Amino acid sequence: MRVQWREDKDPETLKVQIVLRVQRPRPPQPDPKEALLCFIDVNSAYGITAVIAAYEEGRVKVYEMPKFRPPNQSRRLREAAKRESAAAYGSKPNTNYALARLSKKFDAQGWVKAVTARIFRMALEYAGGRPIWVNIDAPDHRTVRGSRLQRTLLSIKRVAANLANWYGIYATFRCYPSRTCPVCGGKLKQLKSKRARVMRCQCGFADERDYIPFHNWLRELGLPLPKRPISSAPLTGKRIKTRRPSRRARPAGKAGWRGGGVNGGA
Ligand SMILES: [Zn+2]
Repeated sequence: MRVQWREDKDPETLKVQIVLRVQRPRPPQPDPKEALLCFIDVNSAYGITAVIAAYEEGRVKVYEMPKFRPPNQSRRLREAAKRESAAAYGSKPNTNYALARLSKKFDAQGWVKAVTARIFRMALEYAGGRPIWVNIDAPDHRTVRGSRLQRTLLSIKRVAANLANWYGIYATFRCYPSRTCPVCGGKLKQLKSKRARVMRCQCGFADERDYIPFHNWLRELGLPLPKRPISSAPLTGKRIKTRRPSRRARPAGKAGWRGGGVNGGA
């Protein structure tokens, strides 16, 4: 039980939190051919990508690949500034100041929780009683530089571990390469494309960069790859020659992002 009270902050209210911890035994590792497979990829620069798939009749069928991107911070702050100046000029000051406060506040932790819960619910729905295997591919804390928001994305490990424990889902936390070809093991080359970051191999394999770790997971599980590339974007483009290609090849705006329906409110 946690009791929270602060003299300086809302002293009339005493917050009592009852935290229930359920520790279930870890479910056994499911047979990859029998399980609903869910791969969650956390990229601190882009957001959260998931692939939900299962082995069906000799091949892996991809059911859904939702992508979630945190709401654009600078747009929110611009919006807040606009509201504040409107309020300062006497236009509905109460409403506008309140909306400005809301726009400024972005609950990154809550966003990660909501997105993770949504992916788990999707997996449970598609599983329809089959065992579920979730792998969370998140970079190490030490390798992540940058904003607080980017570091908050990594809290997904704890959030996912709690959800897996709650639902009795088998979860692993392994990282898979995004530059190694899942077909031949060769080195993938990144192409410049308008809609996606495309990775291509000399052997003919190509897919969006976000899905390469998932393909390499399938390879490790001994499963065949899906018949077609997962990406719906065209997988052609110019070869990038710069040393740091990722920044340049990032799709402009939200173009490549589908299904990013969860945001931090306001
Ligand atoms: Zn290859």
